[in-house]
Amino acid sequence: MPRAARSAAPQVRVSLPERGKSFLSGIFEGDIKLKFEDFKKFFFRKPKNALEGSEDPAAKPAQEGAIPEKLAVKCEKCGQIVLSDEMEENFGVCPKCGHYKKMTPRARIAMCAENFEELFADEVGKNVLDFPGYDEKLAALREKTGENEGVVCGTAEIGGVRCAVFSMDYRFIMGSMGHAVGEKITKTFEYATEHGLPVVGFALSGGARMHEGIISLMQMAKTSAAVAKHSEAGLLYISVLTDPTTGGVSASFAFEADIIMAEKGALIGFAGPRVIEQTIRQKLPEGFQRAEFQQQKGFADLIVERKEMKEKLAQLLQLHCGEAN
Ligand SMILES: [Zn+2]
Repeated sequence: MPRAARSAAPQVRVSLPERGKSFLSGIFEGDIKLKFEDFKKFFFRKPKNALEGSEDPAAKPAQEGAIPEKLAVKCEKCGQIVLSDEMEENFGVCPKCGHYKKMTPRARIAMCAENFEELFADEVGKNVLDFPGYDEKLAALREKTGENEGVVCGTAEIGGVRCAVFSMDYRFIMGSMGHAVGEKITKTFEYATEHGLPVVGFALSGGARMHEGIISLMQMAKTSAAVAKHSEAGLLYISVLTDPTTGGVSASFAFEADIIMAEKGALIGFAGPRVIEQTIRQKLPEGFQRAEFQQQKGFADLIVERKEMKEKLAQLLQLHCGEAN
């Protein structure tokens, strides 16, 4: 049936000049349209595809449900088309250029840990300053992401070691830290201290949440105090810095860990490179604020590839806490 659609198109093109259009432009328009349609149908097949629609109703029931939403995705860095399965098997790393796609907090926990049990899920952000439009923004994000706030917390097992985990969400105003995010992370550390658990935290944040003004800045002190108490109890905290870890989060709990791991190529810093360039009016060196640069400068202990993340975390946890489990 796709053949039928294709052979019909040139006939339409031939009739174009008769309607007063230039012959060349007619062919050109027709060609572009056909190629684009073919491309779309091949790579982005959806159940409601015209080619699989009413023309052949007998074929439809067998295909329904079997066709994934997207067979292929476009890499946001190199722009190449990659099969969704291939991307998934590669943990969201582009097999063509090695670009790390951002991961949702639950996908990241699922990648690294087993038996996850969520904690503090009901903690929600409030519009304490009556910031215009913030309530609507929070409501829309909750609807879109299915999450209450910009961090998911709980307990899980990594390499058989029970630990407390938190993982930040880029979809929630780029993992910015407002009252609820700070509160959930603080409670996670307090829970871990109380239960004698190590903490593994996946940091991802654009910084403080502007909409909450000074309240968001207070979270830096609050989370830091909880990290300090956890540390005083002799417990291990591993921070995994992912792309991007900046602002108030990098200036507090993300950099206060016993072991700081960074995901390959992640942007890590306080102010972003663009702000720094504008302030000092100088071009920054290549790779500035990337994970590898930060390791050279002593801010990160080790750079880890995503596919090795689980194993690396398991090794460290077993080494430090294995005997207790
Ligand atoms: Zn790529």
